[in-house]
Amino acid sequence: SDRWSNLPPPTPDVVFTLNSKAKAAADPKINLVIGAYRDDDGKPMPLKVIRKAERILLEKNLNYEYLPIEGDPEFCDASVKMLYSGVKDLPRQRIAAVQSLSGTGACRLAAEFVARTTGVNTEVYLPDPTWANHKAIFQFSGFHHVKNYRYFDSNTKGVDIKGMLEDLARAPENSLVVLHLCAHNPTGADPTPEEWNLIADVCQKRKLQILFDSAYQGYASGDLQKDSIAARIFLARGFEYLVAQSFAKNMGLYNDRIGCLSVTCATTVASEKVFGLLQNIIRPMYSNPPAHGARLVKFVLMDETLRAEWEVELKGMADRIIRMRKILRDELVQLQTPGNWDHITRQIGMFSYLGLSKAQSQALQDRRMFVMLTGRASIAGLTANTAKLLAKGIDEVVR
Ligand code: PLP
Repeated sequence: SDRWSNLPPPTPDVVFTLNSKAKAAADPKINLVIGAYRDDDGKPMPLKVIRKAERILLEKNLNYEYLPIEGDPEFCDASVKMLYSGVKDLPRQRIAAVQSLSGTGACRLAAEFVARTTGVNTEVYLPDPTWANHKAIFQFSGFHHVKNYRYFDSNTKGVDIKGMLEDLARAPENSLVVLHLCAHNPTGADPTPEEWNLIADVCQKRKLQILFDSAYQGYASGDLQKDSIAARIFLARGFEYLVAQSFAKNMGLYNDRIGCLSVTCATTVASEKVFGLLQNIIRPMYSNPPAHGARLVKFVLMDETLRAEWEVELKGMADRIIRMRKILRDELVQLQTPGNWDHITRQIGMFSYLGLSKAQSQALQDRRMFVMLTGRASIAGLTANTAKLLAKGIDEVVR
């Protein structure tokens, strides 16, 4: 028998496919495809504080027994407390939290949770554009109606708050709205605190469900508190909502697959029920999560000295990205490249939507300057040197 030869061709992942192409390309080249931090020399950079935590871990000589289904409870607690850094009287007993396989796994758990609570006919609203994986996560979790709300204004290269509010106001009650907590991927455009309050108003009025995707806390501004303003607004206003946290970027633990899904509930009774349901979802999926990343993260978050060192390194990464944005923008101004390039320094986080057409982005790729065809570039991949080369490349392709 031959069951599988006639399977339809797989859908290639645009990011990983282009990244492979960029990696295989000859030097000189600039690879700005994947969302991963690079140092001043363009090299991957394990955090010093993580190296320290690794040594502590080794010394402790811990065993490899299974973690509970929900993961390491100390890690989950530290993760939730980090999300709400600076919040006094955190209603921790109303927040159910489980360890997840990084941010992707947290989003997937959130999707399974909503599928089992309000059902797969719940309408799901994603920003347009959004992280490429969001749509597939919800579709593969069985949702029949995965839609978009307006998010990006290509004229101002900022948030289309009017369009966003209009679209959310039209969403049916109970719809799930996915919001990027900060450093929106791919546009680098975030709502202001005032705009977050308007978004909260419409979510409240329309009785929408909310999932915050937090893949970049601390990465946008270098300040954990500043970056989590949206979560604090929703907490203070008494919302029920989900948060998917990832430590891939802010601790540089990409391949450790360490994250957390937390669900803020109205009551302690609800949070206990939610916790139980999440355990029921996890057990048949992967039984229980790996311990290594959870141990590293909790050592860093729970130890005052390590935590302070981490925050310095985190700020260093955020600042370097901000510096690269400035070099790129200033160089474009210097070259008198047609157009306005202020959005490059206005946008925050790892990515910039450069504002290039598909043809212009392709022309950059042809020059071995690899940005996505949408014009998305991972600014974290630039160095002082390559930022100038990229500006020259952009100058050539837009003229
Ligand atoms: N969500 C967003 C918006 C992202 O940009 C990413 C990574 O690029 C993720 C989630 C998940 O990343 P990970 O699964 O590596 O934590």
